[in-house]
Order: sequence, then C-alpha cells, then structure tokens
Amino acid sequence: MKKKDLEYFKKLIVEEQNKVLKDMGYIKETLLDSTIRDASGDHSAYAFHMADQGSDTYDREKTFMLASRENKYLSELVDAMRRVEEGTYGVCMICGKDIEKERLEVVLVAKYHVECKRQLEKVKSKDAQETSNY
Ligand SMILES: [Zn+2]
Repeated sequence: MKKKDLEYFKKLIVEEQNKVLKDMGYIKETLLDSTIRDASGDHSAYAFHMADQGSDTYDREKTFMLASRENKYLSELVDAMRRVEEGTYGVCMICGKDIEKERLEVVLVAKYHVECKRQLEKVKSKDAQETSNY
C-alpha cells in the first residue's frame, strides 16, 4: 500500500478509535449509573428508559456484552494501527494480495481480501462465528 494511503487509513483508524473510546465511556457511565440507582432504590428513570426490555439485571448483562464487544473491536483497531506502522496494513494475511480500498473503508480492521474472506466464511463453523468477524 502506498504511503499516502497508509496515512489516509491511519487517520480513519484514529478517528474510529476515538469514537469507540467515547462509546465505551458512555457504556461505563450507564453501568455505573444503574449501580448507583440500585443502591438508592430508585429505578424510575431507568425503568422509563428501558421500559420494555426486562429486568435491570438483564440490561446490565447486555451492557456488559456490548462493552466486551467494543473492547474486542478496539483491540482490533490497535492491531490495525500496528500494521499501519509496520507498513503491512491493507495486505491480505492469507494470500498477500492488496485488500480492496473500498473494503477497508467499510471494514477498517479487515485482514483478508474479499475472496479469502469468502473462503473463510465457507469453512467457518457456527462456533467460530464469534471470533472471526473481520
Ligand atoms: Zn487474500
């Protein structure tokens, strides 16, 4: 990948990292918030916000899951940034071909070019789905 392109994607990755960090801050606040409200016994605001989504416990579990998903995405972004620094960003990790720029713009953390990704998806078992989203 050309230096100019690397710089371009570097900027996009930094922006995305900031966005995820902001989201994670919000998730943390939500978790903290619901804990505080639990302690005071006042669920009204929470109940109003999440009226039809079941119990507080359920919501908190969902928030935790969201947090761990964001966490994983963030580490993927950090990894992508490392590849930018190394100059290997945008190269398919399976066949070594350049990953389509249009694909990278949509999936910044993509490690495989479209054909290889398709092959991977074919052999991917249900169990592996969680670990290889990119
Ligand atoms: Zn490939």
